[in-house]
Amino acid sequence: MSPRSGMSGMKHRIVVLGAGYAGAYVAGTLARRLDVAEVGITVVNAEPDFVQRLRLHQLAAGQEISAPPLADVFAGTGVRLRLARVTAVDPERRVVAIAESDGASGRGRGDGGSGGDGAITYDTLVYALGSRGATHGVPGVTQHAFDVAARSSALRLRACLDGLDARGDGGSVVVVGDGLTGIETATEIAESRPGLSVTLVARRELGAPLSAGARGHLRRACDRLGVTVLEHTGAAAVEAGRVLCVDGSVLASDATVWTAGFAVAPIAATAGLDVAADGRIVVDRTMRSVSHPDVYAVGDSAHAIGDSGLPLPMSCASAGYTGRQATAAIVARLTGGKVTHTGLEYVGNHISLGRLDGVLQMVDHDAKAKPRFLGGRKAARIKAGILRMSLWTTSHPTFGLPTRRHRLATAPPAPTTKAAVRPVENANGEATRG
Ligand SMILES: Cc1cc2nc3c(=O)[nH]c(=O)nc-3n(C[C@H](O)[C@H](O)[C@H](O)COP(=O)(O)OP(=O)(O)OC[C@H]3O[C@@H](n4cnc5c(N)ncnc54)[C@H](O)[C@@H]3O)c2cc1C
Repeated sequence: MSPRSGMSGMKHRIVVLGAGYAGAYVAGTLARRLDVAEVGITVVNAEPDFVQRLRLHQLAAGQEISAPPLADVFAGTGVRLRLARVTAVDPERRVVAIAESDGASGRGRGDGGSGGDGAITYDTLVYALGSRGATHGVPGVTQHAFDVAARSSALRLRACLDGLDARGDGGSVVVVGDGLTGIETATEIAESRPGLSVTLVARRELGAPLSAGARGHLRRACDRLGVTVLEHTGAAAVEAGRVLCVDGSVLASDATVWTAGFAVAPIAATAGLDVAADGRIVVDRTMRSVSHPDVYAVGDSAHAIGDSGLPLPMSCASAGYTGRQATAAIVARLTGGKVTHTGLEYVGNHISLGRLDGVLQMVDHDAKAKPRFLGGRKAARIKAGILRMSLWTTSHPTFGLPTRRHRLATAPPAPTTKAAVRPVENANGEATRG
């Protein structure tokens, strides 16, 4: 990666794809650490707001959660916001293809302007497009199930639950998936909407990865909230009004919520970047793509090996660790500094069980649950504090703005990838497609 862009006098163009926990953090921190007179930072995001994904089960259950407009988040930072949907990346030509996003046509355009089909060129790319719900190819999921992996889908579920509540005859909700998101979703809906009957379908014993104590706490919480738990089974198919289980049982369902893990979009794989079997971008210790050194990946999109030697899980904490490491590496490489290794840890899970209960489960070096856990109101309060902190840190990128920003190192303008030909650029530094 050449610090100076190939054309004399041009800024080095950093493009960050995605403004979730990882992307918003990286863009804001780069703007703090680099001189915006020398570096142009553009963030491309499909939605106009910062979505607190960690709380989408709460949104679905009927609670209000704040979503600060990204135009406000980046105001005064020098970061340019582009509201558009990323459709493709061409890492050989260093071009990102974008299309008008639904979010760009509504409120909150801010100074980012609308999307519009087109392309953006970069010198350094930070890929932070996050993840979405994984269907695992189970028939009927796409057509008949809801999910809480994105704000739009969480809102669709909420509208359906509102309708069931309004009917007043005790509709049934089936949550498929006993990962942390499934547990949080089932308990949240049961607590917020006591008129509905909630069933959680679990492939294994409920809370299998947790300690025995935490599993017991979880079971008692489900009993208290009236959540029926079906263990050691899974969904073979989802149909309108019912879920067919692998053990032959059939569950009547007015609203099926699919929470069987996360998957990434195929954009990186299609682009020819080196990806793992699950489509996440394979990165080195500094979050740099192992196949394309101008590309960094962070958050759910990165297949990053943590300090324990195991891949980091898709989580908000991993978004923070990978974002911090990528930022440190990009700044060091652009300014001629030493690339330092920041921590890449996986320390545990915080699980909400409605608003008044929760579980904090720490894990050991091998990602196995430690015997001790914290459950109850204190755990719920700690989780609420973590949620507040993760929102605050990502949505206040100017906090702690240093008085001196690092200048770019001067280096010969030699591209380090196969890219030699650049597309024609317009006045905004955006490329026209052709
Ligand atoms: C209901 C729920 C509860 C969760 N609870 C926890 C928890 O308690 N603890 C925890 O650690 N993790 C939790 N997670 C997981 C956590 O939310 C993710 O790991 C985290 O959001 C990853 O951050 P990210 O920045 O990589 O991706 P995201 O936060 O998903 O951000 C990706 C961004 O990219 C944008 N984007 C995506 N595709 C495109 C595109 N094609 N073009 C333009 N923009 C695009 C999205 O709009 C979004 O702004 C939860 C997830 C869910 C759904």
